[in-house]
Order: sequence, then structure tokens, then C-alpha cells
Amino acid sequence: MSPERYQRIREVLEKRQTDLTVCLENVHKPHNVSAVVRTCDAVGIHRVHTVWEKQYQFRRGTAMGSQQWVRQTNHMNIADAMTDLKGQGMQVLVTNLSETAVDFRDIDYTKPTAILFGQEKYGATDEAKALADQDIVIPMMGMVQSLNVSVAAALVLYEAQRQRTIAGMYSTQHLAEEECQALAFENGYPRLFKLCQRKGLALPPINELGEIAADDSWWQDMQITQAEANALEA
Ligand code: SAM
Repeated sequence: MSPERYQRIREVLEKRQTDLTVCLENVHKPHNVSAVVRTCDAVGIHRVHTVWEKQYQFRRGTAMGSQQWVRQTNHMNIADAMTDLKGQGMQVLVTNLSETAVDFRDIDYTKPTAILFGQEKYGATDEAKALADQDIVIPMMGMVQSLNVSVAAALVLYEAQRQRTIAGMYSTQHLAEEECQALAFENGYPRLFKLCQRKGLALPPINELGEIAADDSWWQDMQITQAEANALEA
């Protein structure tokens, strides 16, 4: 990885907002999921929560590579997701097309926040609505009742981004240094990362130039020299 690429990666990761997240409840169309993940990356979300009965990985396509930079936690049911999010001290907002829901612009997104988006056809479940702290709605003035879920996510997340920018929340690093380095290694040295995983080895440190700064024993365990590694990733 070149020093310039490492610098670019660092700039992005240093803006990650670890206390802002999205929860996708049964949102199942791959292009919608990918579009939401892409917006999450764009506003600096580090981790997206999903509630899917089966664990699927984020896909390429519409995500345009953003899926490699946004972590995922899947929950088997909404109760588990809520316990996790509330356990992290987050206010959980559920997007809900109801008359009693609050306009999404009237929320304080500088607080630790999780925003839940519901399934494309049926919306959020009653259980999700009951467990959430607050319903929010994007006002609709037209003939159609709702927006596409990825469009709704973009609107709410950019309001959160706007408020957090004003509050200076993108100026300090929130992501743990270890996690920054893990993401940089995973994406900057993809072949070595796979090899490292296959061998069950710890991820190596990365220096300020984006080079692997592992000790001799790590290279021995990897059974590869630094020169061979450079050739492999070139
Ligand atoms: N009939 C469903 C309902 O009543 O919820 C419509 C589902 S909508 C197409 C899919 C998801 O997009 C919703 O669960 C919500 O997350 C989001 N969404 C769409 N339009 C929205 C709006 N105007 N306000 C808030 N969320 C919206």
C-alpha cells in the first residue's frame, strides 16, 4: 500500500462515528441494502446492524466497494438487536409512517443514535416500534405514501451528518486505533489478510507509511518474506 493510499484510508477512518448506526430490519433487496451501506460509508458510519434470520454478507454492486469499509453485526431477531443497541447507550429511533411520529429533522443526532429502517413492503414490525424510543417520519406531500428505504436512509443520515459536522464530531478520532489498523491491513493488503486469516494469525501493526511493521516471528509464521509479500500485493 502506498503512503498516499494509507493517508487517504486514515483520513476516512478518523472521521468514523462509532456512536451512530443503522439497523436494517428485514430489509432484504440487495440493491437497497447496498445503497444504504454506501450512504453509511459516506456519512462515516462504522457498523451497520441487520436483523436477518440468516447471516448474509453485504454485496458488491450498488455498494461500490463501501461494503469493505463498513462492519456488519447481524441479529437473529429484533429483541436481540434492541438489547445490543440500547446496551451501548443509544437512543433507538424507528422510521415509521405514522401521524404521531416526530419529523426526522427535530431529533438531536449528536446523541448516540441508532436508526431503524423497516422492510420494503411492510415497514418496521410492531415489535420494533414498541421497543424503540421514538418514531420518526420524513414528511410526505405527494401521492405516494412512502419513499424507497435507501432514499429514506440517505435523508435521515445526512441530517445526522449535518448536525454532527456543526458539533465538530468529525474532527476527533472515535474509532479504536486497533480497528483502524485492522481495516487498513484488510483492505490495503487483501491477499496477505486472507493468508493471515487462514493461518489464524494476529493482524500485524501498520506504520505511518502504511507498511507492515511486524516482527520476524510474524513473517516466519506467515511463511513468507517481506519481499515476497510486496510482490504478492503489487
Ligand atoms: N407500507 C410500509 C409502511 O407503512 O411502513 C412502507 C415501507 S417503506 C417502503 C420501507 C421503509 O422505508 C420504511 O420502513 C422506513 O424505514 C423507510 N421509509 C420510507 N418512507 C419513509 C418516510 N416517509 N418516513 C420515514 N421512513 C420512511
